[in-house]
Amino acid sequence: MNQAFHLYQLQKVDIQINNIQSRINEIDAIISRDKRIADAEENIHIARLAIDKTKKNLRELEETGKAIRLEIETNEAAMYSGKIRNPKELADLQHKVNADKKNRDKNDDAQLEGLMDLEIREEEIKKLGELLQRVQSEVATSHSLLQGEKSQLLKQKATFETERNAKAASLQNESLEIYSRLIKQKNGSAVARVEDRACEACGAPLTPAEWQSVRSSSELFFCSTCGRILYAN
Ligand SMILES: [Zn+2]
Repeated sequence: MNQAFHLYQLQKVDIQINNIQSRINEIDAIISRDKRIADAEENIHIARLAIDKTKKNLRELEETGKAIRLEIETNEAAMYSGKIRNPKELADLQHKVNADKKNRDKNDDAQLEGLMDLEIREEEIKKLGELLQRVQSEVATSHSLLQGEKSQLLKQKATFETERNAKAASLQNESLEIYSRLIKQKNGSAVARVEDRACEACGAPLTPAEWQSVRSSSELFFCSTCGRILYAN
């Protein structure tokens, strides 16, 4: 039995298995690296924090507004109570009431602005929520396609592995060990075909004696340049 021929066939199957496994790894990486949903959720989180801050500001403005109004009422009541007769004191109170009224107006404007800001932010968060739903549906579709592809690949891989086991069973242990070592060293290519009396992998030409050996020997024969098992069909 020509070991080189069978190893070459085994290598073909191994290349298929490797290609399938690479794609499976790629699919797993695409799925695990997919941050679309996390990003959309993060945007909502940030928007919520901004809304909370706006609401807190509004509550503070309301409290301040109430306090200013109360102060105005109290001072006006005092002014009109008739109990304060000192003109300087009355003038000071009037001055304070005028200043408070300006602050009250400013506070009213700030509250209005805050309410408009809140409305804009709530609209924004609604849009972000809709966007999240769209993203979730897109991700579900794309991941389910990828999972479908992966399950097909796993089936194909299992078929190739069965084939590989059958092929490996018909090979000598020693040949298999050499093959396994070379396939690691030579980046997935342990067996090279001879094309035009040269090694297909590295291009090194064979001497007539080497060519003769490759064709006739039942022993494994190695490329003198790259060290791969040579196979002549
Ligand atoms: Zn070579």
